This record gives sequence, C-alpha cells and structure tokens, in this order.
Amino acid sequence: MDPLNLFQEDLPNDLAQSLRTMPRRERLTKLAQELETAEDTILQKIAASTQHSYVDTIEDPLIHYNSLPIRLLTDALMIPIQINEKAQTIELVSNWPPEGTLSDWIYALTQLRPVWKLCTTQKILDQIHDMYGIGSASLENTDLVEADDTIQDEEDEDAAIIRFVNEVIRQALKDRATDIHFEPQRNNLTLRYRIDGHLVPVQVPENLHQFQPAIMARLKVMARLNISERRRPQDGRISFKVDDTTLDIRISTLPTLFGESISLRLLQQQQQTNSVESLGMDADLIAKIEPVLQRPHGIILVTGPTGSGKSTTLNAFMRKIRSPERRIVTVEDPIEYEVTGINQTQINSEIGLNFAQALRHVLRQDPDVIMVGEIRDTETASIAIRASLTGHLVFSSLHTNDAAGALTRLIDMGIEPFLIASSIQLVIAQRLVRRLCPACKQKQAHTAADLQQVIQALEVDPATANQLIELYQASGCEQCQQTGYQGRIGLFEALKMQEDLNALLLARKSAYTIRQTAIEMGMQTLQSCGWQQALKGATSLSEVMRFADDLKKAAKA
Ligand SMILES: [Zn+2]
Repeated sequence: MDPLNLFQEDLPNDLAQSLRTMPRRERLTKLAQELETAEDTILQKIAASTQHSYVDTIEDPLIHYNSLPIRLLTDALMIPIQINEKAQTIELVSNWPPEGTLSDWIYALTQLRPVWKLCTTQKILDQIHDMYGIGSASLENTDLVEADDTIQDEEDEDAAIIRFVNEVIRQALKDRATDIHFEPQRNNLTLRYRIDGHLVPVQVPENLHQFQPAIMARLKVMARLNISERRRPQDGRISFKVDDTTLDIRISTLPTLFGESISLRLLQQQQQTNSVESLGMDADLIAKIEPVLQRPHGIILVTGPTGSGKSTTLNAFMRKIRSPERRIVTVEDPIEYEVTGINQTQINSEIGLNFAQALRHVLRQDPDVIMVGEIRDTETASIAIRASLTGHLVFSSLHTNDAAGALTRLIDMGIEPFLIASSIQLVIAQRLVRRLCPACKQKQAHTAADLQQVIQALEVDPATANQLIELYQASGCEQCQQTGYQGRIGLFEALKMQEDLNALLLARKSAYTIRQTAIEMGMQTLQSCGWQQALKGATSLSEVMRFADDLKKAAKA
C-alpha cells in the first residue's frame, strides 16, 4: 500500500502526485510541512497501517557493517541496526517504507532479508553523520549501482567535492559555528568548527586526505583566489547562498608544513538582529547606559580582548540610536554586520585607507555619530577625541582588560589626561561566557568551602552567596552538540565618568586606583556580573572562573 493514501483526505491530488514523484527520502519532510504535522506523528500513523514498527531513538546501529555501501545508506536514508543470524534477517531503520527494488538490493548485497523500522528524518541524518563523518556520502568512492531508482548515477569527483564543501558550510551554520578551519596534518586533513568561541573537531570521512588538493582548490575558486599560488597567504570573500539568504564568508589561506591551511569566517550579517537587550544586559545596566547613548557628543568605548563581542555591542548601540534625524557613519575592519540606515565604510590597508585616514574623510561628511571599529594608534585616538570635542558622538573599541585600563591606555598613547577627561563619557568592558544548555544543564553540588574560594577569587560580596539556591553545570545533549552549552552571554563592567574619577585621571593615578574608586562608587565588575549569571543558572561556575583566571593572568602580565 502507498503510505500517501493514508493522507488522501488532507492532500490535494496534485500535491499527492508530486510527493509520489519526489525521492523517497524527502517525502516525509515535505509531507510534514504540507500537513503542518510533526514527522513522528505522521510516521506513527504510517507504521501502524503498514506493519512496520516506529522507533523514537536509534540505539546501537551497526557501525562497521561493510556489506552496505555508505552511499546506498545515505541516498536511501537508512541505517542497519541489527542482524539476526538465526532468522537470516537484517533490521534497518529509515524515514519511509521501502519501495521499488530497495529490499531486493539489500538482500542481494547482504544475503539477509530486510526488516524495516521507521524513524524521523533528522535522527537518521544525525546518526549517519555520527557514524561516517560530515560529507561522507559525497566523498565515498563507490561504483554501486544503477538498478534502484533512488540512487543517482555516479557523479564525477568535481561534483562530489562541491557537494562536500557545501555540506561542511551548511552543517557549520546549523551548529552555529562562526569559523571553519581546514587543517592539513601529515597523514590527514582535519576539520574544526568554532562554536560559542570554542573549537570543536568535526568528524570527517577517513579518506578525506586524498581529496585535500581538490577541496582547497574548490574553496579558492569560490573566493576567486589564485589557485596556483600555494606559497603566499591569500585573503578573499565568498558569497554563499543558503535558501533565500546570501551568506558572507571571509576566507584566508596560509601555507603550513603539510599544505595550505584554510580558515573561513561566517559573517552571517543578514541573520544578526542583535539588540542591546539580547546581549544580556540587565535593566540596571541599560538604565545606566541609555542616557549616555542619547548625548549629542562625547566618546563611548567598549573594551575587551579579541572575540569578546565588542563589535556586536557597538552594532547594537548603532541600532539603538539610529533615526532619520541622525547621520551615522562608521569605519570598520571588517564590516561584520550590515545595519540598515547607517553608512558603513570598510578599511582597506592595501590602498592606505587606515582608520585614521578614513576617519578624517568621515569628518568631512557631516556626520552626527561616528563609529570607529577600533582605536589602534595615537593618531586615530586624537582624531576621535577632536571629533567628540567638536560636537560628535563617537563610538569605538580598545584592547584592554578592564574599563579603567582604557583610560590609562589612552594616556600611554600620549593623549593628555584633560582631553580624555573632557571627552570620554562611558567605558564598557566586556567578556563572553557560554550559556548553559537549558535542555540538559544539571544541578551542581557545592560546599561552603568551594563557595568561599570562588567568592575570594571573584572579589565579590560574600553576602551574595546567601541568596544562592542552586548552581548548575554543563552536561551535554543532542540540542547542544554534546557541549553542554548553547550560545553565549555578555558580561559587562560599565565605568561612567564623573568628577571624582576625572580628578584621579588628571592626577595620573593608576588604573587600579581608578577601578577601586569606581567600585566604591557602585560599579559592577566583570567578575561580579559573571557571579550573578552563575547564581541565575545562566552559566556555569567553571565558565566564570575560566575568564576570571584569564583576567588575573592579564593583570599580572
Ligand atoms: Zn544540551
């Protein structure tokens, strides 16, 4: 019986017909979309009336079973799960009942009679991915098979490489990766994603190494780089289409001992809708920052190491303040997010357009608000200060560990303290910690002594531990790729300049003194912000301690 007959009443004829002609593996997903019903509900209905059993999870698949080629498994979307020697049967799980000659093929290849079970599409895909690595179907060399119509003719290697590279990028998007690294080793090519700031190895097919030159060439073609140049590093961009959106990817190559290493950065500009609220700033902090954002002039700085989310925050500020009455011009390197309604300029050092130079031109463009991606040198710093003193609101970032450090860094750059005092309005230091996966986080046992240690290390008020109910730690589940974390939260330290602090600055006091005074005046530190997030169960203590240790090391250096 055709399982589609079960849904006859809900399906228009032409739709049923088009479902019949589409590949068997895609039918369930399409049907679920059309009926706006979950795949498992549909599958249970099909299972009940076709004498197949439905399974919710795929346990113990036959991982090293070689009689069925990987290509056949991926094309027919099925996984062998058990062999019964006595009955001479093989159990397989798939997302649609078999049809055509599929069962005959399995018998021909295994000499076992197939027994089918049904499971949802994503679970089978995930299992195939776990068993054979990403892109395994694309790259497997197999001469199988014309007889079954679900199996396409063998493709040439070029097409397989293109499919493989596309699959790697798509999977990276799905896993929320920001970077993809192709790293040649002596005897293999490894692949890693950066997810929530951490590197995660990607399982790849065993034979990936033999395709290394072709994969590297494909990536270079996509970015219009010189394919034959393998000794010099190259940079480029790729526009990658996924469904209806175009993804901007920055690519760079670097010659290494065993071949070129290639890194991709997914800029995901069109998907980003970061707002100040979604950064994880709490209401108190927003109340402190917002009035400053509305001032007509002055400088607002965001500080932190690379990867601490500074440009995300700056862009969220731009979104917050943009209006038809304000002309906003930015100078960035690179432009990571497109923001509608503002004018974004990209630095280009090859033609000598650096931050300082671009900033000079921006000032002739009658801006109200200027965002300079980063202050790296004295020249940029002094132009930014001059701009703020001549009636512009200026946003920028600096590489310093904490908020007070930004003030002394500017002095070190040779800027007069009175200029700093009269222009800087607000300095926000920022870090990112990983957000515990809400689906699998677990309560963490702790003793009073543990807490005492943490409180000391973070220099937070011991009384805050009294409000403690539970701490949570990472576990790991399907939803979080077994990492225990999903996404990240910003930690913030907002130093609002006021008279007392300016006096310390004019007296050239140390960053430490300024910081301590600010804390006495009520500034929440990065450490206490991290502690609050751990108390809320949003992140784990180990995440907070990791960044606190880094801070301590940096302070000593
Ligand atoms: Zn999880």
